Amino acid sequence: MDKRNDNRPTVIVLGAGMAGLGAARALADGGARVTVIEARGRIGGRTHTSRLWPDLAVDMGASWIHGTKGNPVTALARTLGLTLTPTSYKRSATFDETGQDVPFNKLAKHAMKLVEAARDRIDDNDQDLSLKDAVEASKEWQAISPEDRRIYRLAINTRIEHEYSGDWSRLSAWYFDQGVDFPGDEAVVTPGFGPILAHLGQGIDIRLGEPVCGISPSLHGVEITTTRGTHQADSVVVTLPLGVLKSGSIRFAESLEPKRQRAIDRLEMGLLNKCVLRFDRAFWPEDMDWIDFLGPVETLWADWTNYLPATGQPLIVGFNAARMAEKVEALDDRDTTASAMTALRAMFGSSIPDPRGSQISRWRQDPFALGAYSFHAVGSSRKDRRALFGSDWDGRLHFAGEATSRDQPSTVHGALMTGRLAAAAILNGGRPAA
Ligand SMILES: Cc1cc2nc3c(=O)[nH]c(=O)nc-3n(C[C@H](O)[C@H](O)[C@H](O)COP(=O)(O)OP(=O)(O)OC[C@H]3O[C@@H](n4cnc5c(N)ncnc54)[C@H](O)[C@@H]3O)c2cc1C
Repeated sequence: MDKRNDNRPTVIVLGAGMAGLGAARALADGGARVTVIEARGRIGGRTHTSRLWPDLAVDMGASWIHGTKGNPVTALARTLGLTLTPTSYKRSATFDETGQDVPFNKLAKHAMKLVEAARDRIDDNDQDLSLKDAVEASKEWQAISPEDRRIYRLAINTRIEHEYSGDWSRLSAWYFDQGVDFPGDEAVVTPGFGPILAHLGQGIDIRLGEPVCGISPSLHGVEITTTRGTHQADSVVVTLPLGVLKSGSIRFAESLEPKRQRAIDRLEMGLLNKCVLRFDRAFWPEDMDWIDFLGPVETLWADWTNYLPATGQPLIVGFNAARMAEKVEALDDRDTTASAMTALRAMFGSSIPDPRGSQISRWRQDPFALGAYSFHAVGSSRKDRRALFGSDWDGRLHFAGEATSRDQPSTVHGALMTGRLAAAAILNGGRPAA
């Protein structure tokens, strides 16, 4: 950035996702000169509204506002006139591999109570355990029948692994759900998060298709090295995903504070993937938001969302999380769709039509995400997120992004809030905003 005849602070923001664009918008509005550097050829990061089907926008990353009351993303969605369609577990149905109804909701409640009891039991332990170890050690788990155990496992998968994106053998039993939820509905945003990102990025200098590979302190600020050259600024906000920070693909010329590096090492990047299937007609229960599948392969295509209410189109989305998502991600498009259709045919019969189109996410293979979102692995806690957020190198190097959010990690609003806080700290002369 050229500073001649301009005394405004210069800031480079790395990453044009929700945190990056939230930071850039606040910095620009606060009088800073901002440039955003983004590796991909598009903005949005893990909020990616696909326009592959010109008549139907589809979110391949985030699609819900988790807790609409007091949520800053709700405010943006309302300003832009987007539609929010609430979903509820009260409107859910579960089928087994023969298409029979499964009395899932009641047993899922029992399963969650069992999980809480198992966690309480290890509260005073010297060491954390994985959720799996804590649950399997409990007398209640050992006492349940094999058939109920399959249902309890489905509940742990759909209600915990899908939400936190980590396998229960890796999730911290003490801390996996640490955070503070906003009250209100869980609501799908139509036509997707895309308009929010475009709104935040309006008028900002965004350099697309420019992967960053190095960050160094310079005489008066920082120097950023990308595949295209170097950039100078007074300070930098790093909103790169935890997966990218963990991979070591970004070279920090001076080491980070030890507690920050420890946080990067301890927190983990989980996986959640979508298979979006578009049909000519809906053949699933149209009044249900959620459809769970108790299939022959544990946790494969366990969770489905009916997108008919949100889009008015016969659209259904199959999810896989954690270990199962890793397995399915190795399949190509044709085999992924075929595998998803096997689950749907088991639930709804062999006469259901083939989809007229499908779109599939593979967030682990994505070099600019390397996973879906962060989770508390055994050995990590909310303290690590606090350590990751904030600044290094005497206030020249700031971190933001979902993984740095102590209270709202793994969410769109958490990312936005950390981006805005980092911007406020820079505008405040490097001090944390009050
Ligand atoms: C499948 C899925 C479903 C989800 N569902 C929800 C949901 O319903 N609700 C919700 O609240 N949250 C959800 N999330 C989580 C949410 O999407 C993220 O928490 C949030 O979008 C993260 O924003 P961010 O700005 O921190 O990171 P990102 O959006 O990942 O932004 C970081 C940016 O950095 C860029 N980048 C990476 N490497 C480089 C590099 N070397 N140089 C330059 N740029 C680089 C990336 O391309 C990206 O644009 C979901 C995520 C996934 C994957």
